Amino acid sequence: MIRIVRPELAQELADRLPPLTAEIANATDTANTARLLWKRTQVRRTVHAPLRKVLADMAPGIECCMYCGDSQGTDIDHFEPLVLNPLRTFDWLNHLLACSTCNSHNKGSFFPLDSDGTPLLIDPTVEDPFDHLVLTPSLGVYHGLTPKGLTTIEVCALNRSTLTRGRQQAHRVVLMCLEKWADAYENDMAADMHEAVITVREQPFADVCQSLLRLALSPGASRVFDDPHVLDLLRRPELREALLT
Ligand SMILES: [Zn+2]
Repeated sequence: MIRIVRPELAQELADRLPPLTAEIANATDTANTARLLWKRTQVRRTVHAPLRKVLADMAPGIECCMYCGDSQGTDIDHFEPLVLNPLRTFDWLNHLLACSTCNSHNKGSFFPLDSDGTPLLIDPTVEDPFDHLVLTPSLGVYHGLTPKGLTTIEVCALNRSTLTRGRQQAHRVVLMCLEKWADAYENDMAADMHEAVITVREQPFADVCQSLLRLALSPGASRVFDDPHVLDLLRRPELREALLT
C-alpha cells in the first residue's frame, strides 16, 4: 500500500455528482436509492467509466488496486461503504480503485472505527500507509505499526499468499532492474536506463520498490540489506528521482 495523490476531477465530471447525491438525500430509503442509482446504466456510462479512468491513472503501474497493489483494480470502491453512508456514494473523496477480492470479498461493508469514531482503515489518498505499516520486501509480508495498520492488514487480507508471492516476485524484478540500470549508467546507455526504470514502475506491487527506497535511507539500513551494492544503488539520487517521481 502506498501514498497516492488524488487530483481534482475535471469540472464536467465533478458537476455530474451533486445532483445524484441530492437524489439520494431526497429519498425515503437512502441506502436502497443509492444502490439503485449506482447501478443505473446511464450512471455507469457517464460516471463510472470516467471515474475509473481517473482512478487508474492515479496509482503507479497498470490499474493497481489501491489496497493490495496488484494490477487487477477493476472496481470503484467506496472507502466509507455505501450501505453505511449513502450520501457519500457519489463523493469523489470516497472513491478508490480496488480489485474485486479487496473490494467485495474482504473489505465489503466493514468499516471499523476506533473509540473516537476515526476510521481504522488506511485511506492511501489521505495519509501515508507507511506511517502505519512496514513491509519486509524479500518476504512480501506486512506488519502493523499501529492499530490502524493492524486492522487494515486484517480487513484487506494484505498478507494473503497470492500477494506475498507477488511481492516476492516484484522484489526479484526490482533487484534485477537495479543491476541493469547500473550497467547502463556506467556505459552511458540512456535507453537501457529508461527501460529498467519503466519495468519497475509498470509492474504491480509498487509498494515493494517504495519500501526498498525508504528502507535504504533508514538508520539501520546497513543491517537490513545483505548486499552493500544494492544499498548503494538505492541511495543514488538520480535513480531515486527516476523511481519516485
Ligand atoms: Zn486488491
